[in-house]
Amino acid sequence: MKKRIVLLGPPASGKGTQAEMIHAKYHLETPSVGAILREAAAAGTELGLAAETFTKEGRLVPDEMIVGVVKGWLDEHDDAFVFDGFPRTVGQGAALERMLVERKSPLEIALAFDIDMGEIKQRVARRMVCGQCGGIVSIGWQIERAESPCPRCGGALHRRKDDTLEALEQRMAEYHEKTEPLIPFYESRGLLRRIPAQDRPEAVFTQVAAALES
Ligand code: AMP
Repeated sequence: MKKRIVLLGPPASGKGTQAEMIHAKYHLETPSVGAILREAAAAGTELGLAAETFTKEGRLVPDEMIVGVVKGWLDEHDDAFVFDGFPRTVGQGAALERMLVERKSPLEIALAFDIDMGEIKQRVARRMVCGQCGGIVSIGWQIERAESPCPRCGGALHRRKDDTLEALEQRMAEYHEKTEPLIPFYESRGLLRRIPAQDRPEAVFTQVAAALES
């Protein structure tokens, strides 16, 4: 069973949802750098507010800030994790590799989610996030309307500030330019597994689980 895992993929390709499902089945910690930054922004910390100037426009936050967040997380946790949305640049991938080599606990697998643009746009338009438990839900799937309460904890749901068509365009441009080069980066290390991610979460998870248990 793999226990040091990164999830790669374009916005709304299901990284967060699959991370939740991996956590439920295998009890691995699933830090999401995006979620850590959103919490820091809501708490008004210096890091959170600085990061928000980038995230709200759909731009990537500079590597130094992100690597600092991840290093802090690794210092406080053991050597099992699923990073959701990290690394997002080859610089971050190289920094993670160095940090893990120092800890003598190298990465074991990189799952890359493949999904087309039409499906991404639909998912972004339907995605809601719970302000209380952080759960991700989709209108027309787990909830009926945008105003519905969180089906898990009853908390209020809201849209992410970067789930707009303008921010999505910018996030896709960032993805193609800066994140996609991580695919050959991990392929050359023999760590890459591509996962078709167009289907329902449960169907995608069947393939994720098979990759992690292989
Ligand atoms: P996510 O929740 O993973 O979609 O991330 C939301 C936003 O947070 C991204 O669009 C970026 O602005 C920022 N972010 C999250 N993870 C990273 C990362 N590894 N590198 C740079 N920016 C990031």
